Amino acid sequence: MATTIGSGFLEAQPLTGPYPSGAPAIFIDQVARLGGKAGIVASVGNDDFGQLNLDRLRRDGVDVSAVSVSGDLPTGSAFVRYRADGGRDFVFNIKHSAAGRIEMTPAVEDLIKAAGHIHVMGSAFVIPGAADVIEAAIHAVRSRGGSVSLDPNVRKELLDSGNISQHFSSVLKVADLVLPSGEELFAAAGQSDEPSAVASLLDMGVSEVVLKRGRDGASFFGRDDTRIDCKAFVVEEVDPTGAGDCFGAAYLTSRRFGLSPEESLLRASAAGARNVTRQGPMEGLSTPSELAAFIAATPRR
Ligand code: ATP
Ligand code: MG
Repeated sequence: MATTIGSGFLEAQPLTGPYPSGAPAIFIDQVARLGGKAGIVASVGNDDFGQLNLDRLRRDGVDVSAVSVSGDLPTGSAFVRYRADGGRDFVFNIKHSAAGRIEMTPAVEDLIKAAGHIHVMGSAFVIPGAADVIEAAIHAVRSRGGSVSLDPNVRKELLDSGNISQHFSSVLKVADLVLPSGEELFAAAGQSDEPSAVASLLDMGVSEVVLKRGRDGASFFGRDDTRIDCKAFVVEEVDPTGAGDCFGAAYLTSRRFGLSPEESLLRASAAGARNVTRQGPMEGLSTPSELAAFIAATPRR
């Protein structure tokens, strides 16, 4: 019997890669490249793909002491298919991989003790046990006066397990910054139009909502009806994967370095735009000087 699963992966596609990847890895590597002090909680297998990711993170200055290396499970992997209509489909091999096993270890505890901010990648909630680690980390960081951000990073292919919206609402109760893209805003806020969704997040106590709109730019929403729109830079999009993570990392790092929401939004937009010009989700990450040169030289839509 022939059945169709997914949407097109049964046909042969030209393959490129492998590339180091994973939303949390892209995000944290971009933080480190911009000079932020960065560490990641993750798990890889004792194999070439795990080495690929660890090597890149180490090279760029990310603290990987809380990355556990599984003795029996392979590194999680993902395939991305780019459709002619501009959409993307993902095939994830996560659940039965090292990435599907996140636990509180002494190394994770030590990293959390040193953190002044925790960034939560919503896709992590599909991993059994990750919610407990995230909750403990948020509690520890908040009780020391630290801050919290959330990228909902909803991947429809990963949504069949776990109660994502319940997990989102518990993070949103304590989040300072939320960085949704497209429909994720509605999923996170439980509202179906943009103004109500943004208002609802701000009412929950979030101080900054930053919406990512792909080639249509980005918007900041803050307290007292503050809104700042930032047009996207004009670039040739080669590979959109990872733009949101680079954007979020540049926004957060810029804010933590004391830049205003407006300046941070511009740098974030530049980091997102630069990343889409390269094939591979973390091949177009930016240093501060690359961002500055790009901003000075590139027109916006
Ligand atoms: P992903 O989940 O693939 O990492 P995302 O959906 O979270 O991405 P996007 O909205 O695609 O995030 O991209 C983040 C930001 O990067 C956009 O708000 C925009 O500023 C910039 N960006 C993305 N795509 C383009 C593009 N084609 N041209 C210019 N800027 C872009
Ligand atoms: Mg995203």
